[in-house]
Amino acid sequence: MVFENAEKQLDKAKKHIKLAQETEETLKLPKESFAFSIPVRMDNGHLNVYQGFRVRYNDARGPTKGGIRYHPGVTLDEVTALAFWMTIKCAVIDIPYGGGKGGIIVDPHKLSKAELERLSRGWMRAASRIVGPQRDIPAPDVYTTPQIMAWMMDEYSTIVGQYSPAVITGKPLSVGGSLGRGYSTALGGYFSVREAVKKVHVGKKVAVQGFGNAGAHMARLMAQDGFTIVAVSDSKGGAHLDSGFDFKKLEDVKAKDGRVDAYPGSKKITNEQLLELDVDILVLAALENTVTKDNVSKVKAKMIVELANGPVTPEADDVFHKNGQFLIPDVLANSGGVCVSYFEWVQNLYGHYWTENNVNEKLEQKMVKEFNATFEIHKSKSVDMRTAAYVLALGRIDDSTKDKMKL
Ligand code: GLU
Repeated sequence: MVFENAEKQLDKAKKHIKLAQETEETLKLPKESFAFSIPVRMDNGHLNVYQGFRVRYNDARGPTKGGIRYHPGVTLDEVTALAFWMTIKCAVIDIPYGGGKGGIIVDPHKLSKAELERLSRGWMRAASRIVGPQRDIPAPDVYTTPQIMAWMMDEYSTIVGQYSPAVITGKPLSVGGSLGRGYSTALGGYFSVREAVKKVHVGKKVAVQGFGNAGAHMARLMAQDGFTIVAVSDSKGGAHLDSGFDFKKLEDVKAKDGRVDAYPGSKKITNEQLLELDVDILVLAALENTVTKDNVSKVKAKMIVELANGPVTPEADDVFHKNGQFLIPDVLANSGGVCVSYFEWVQNLYGHYWTENNVNEKLEQKMVKEFNATFEIHKSKSVDMRTAAYVLALGRIDDSTKDKMKL
C-alpha cells in the first residue's frame, strides 16, 4: 500500500520535530476524498464507465494543488498518498498551497482522441464540485497532457459560465499556460542535482529510468551540462551505451519507434538491470515502488534522484542512508513542476504573463534556496534528505495550522 509508505515517512520525520496536536490530527486523514464514475460514449457506440478520483489532503497553507493521473494501476490509496506528498512538496518549495491529487483508472493509449476528450471533460464535470481556482487546482501527472488540461479548463469554464484559466495548470500557452512549465519538473530536478554535486562529490555517469516528460527533459538538461547519459529506459525496456547517448538522436528514435531501446548500437537491458548499473547518478523518473528492500542492495549509484513520486520505499531509504548513498527525495527533486504551476496560476490571476527567462530564474531561486535549507537540516540533525525535507515542510504546515486552529 503506497499510503502506508507515506505514513512511515511522516512518522520518521515526527521524531525530529515537535508538532502541535492540531497539526498531528489534521495530517492523519485527507480533508476530502471523492470517488466517482465517468460514463463515456465510445466511438463504437458502447457506453463505458470509468472510475475517477480527487483527494484534497490538507489545505493548511492554501488551496489544494496536484496533478491528475491516467493509469490502469490508479487506486484511491495511491491518489491519497500522492495528495499527501503534494502537501509536503508545496510546503518544501514554499508555495502557498496545500496538497491534492486526482486520477482515472484507464490506459489512455487505448482510447481515440475523441474518447480521451469525452473522458477528460467527464472527469471535470464530476470534479467541478470539488475543484476551483481558490479551492483545488489540478495539473498534469502521469499520462496527462497540456491538451487534456485545455479540455478540462474549457469544461469548467462552461460549467461556471466564466473563462477560468486559474482552475488548472500545465495548460497550452494559448489558453493561459506558462512558458517553461513543460520542462519545469526536470529543470527543478536538474537545479537540485547541480546544488547536490557541489556538496557531495560524484562523477558524471548517469542512468535515467523513465523517459516520459520529466525523464526525457532531465536527460537532455544533464547531457547539455556535460553529464554522460549511459542508460535510459521506458515502459518497453532499456538501452545501455557506455560512451553516452546523443540526446537529439535519442529523441528521434523515441519519436520514430516509440521506444528508447531501438537506439542504434546500444545494448538492450531491462528496467531492473538499469537500476543496477555501475553509474554515479541514478535518476528515477517512472512510478512508485521501483527501489524496495528486495533490490536496494543492488543499486550502486552514489546519488539517487527521485524525479517520480515515491519510487523508493522507506525500507530502501534506510539502506541508502546507511550506505552513504545520497538521495534527493521526490518532494524536493520534482517540486519544480508544481512550483511553475504556481507561477502559471499567479499569471492567470493577474492576467499578466512573464518571459521564459523570468520563470526559469524564479524557479532557480526557489530550488537553490530550499535545497540548501533541506541540506542544512540533513547536516544539523544527521537525518537523510527526505526526513530533512519533511522536517522543513512540517514546520511550515505546523505554523499555518496553529495560527488557524489553536486555542
Ligand atoms: N503532477 C506534478 C507533481 O506530482 C505536478 C503537480 C502540479 O503542478 O500541480 O508534482
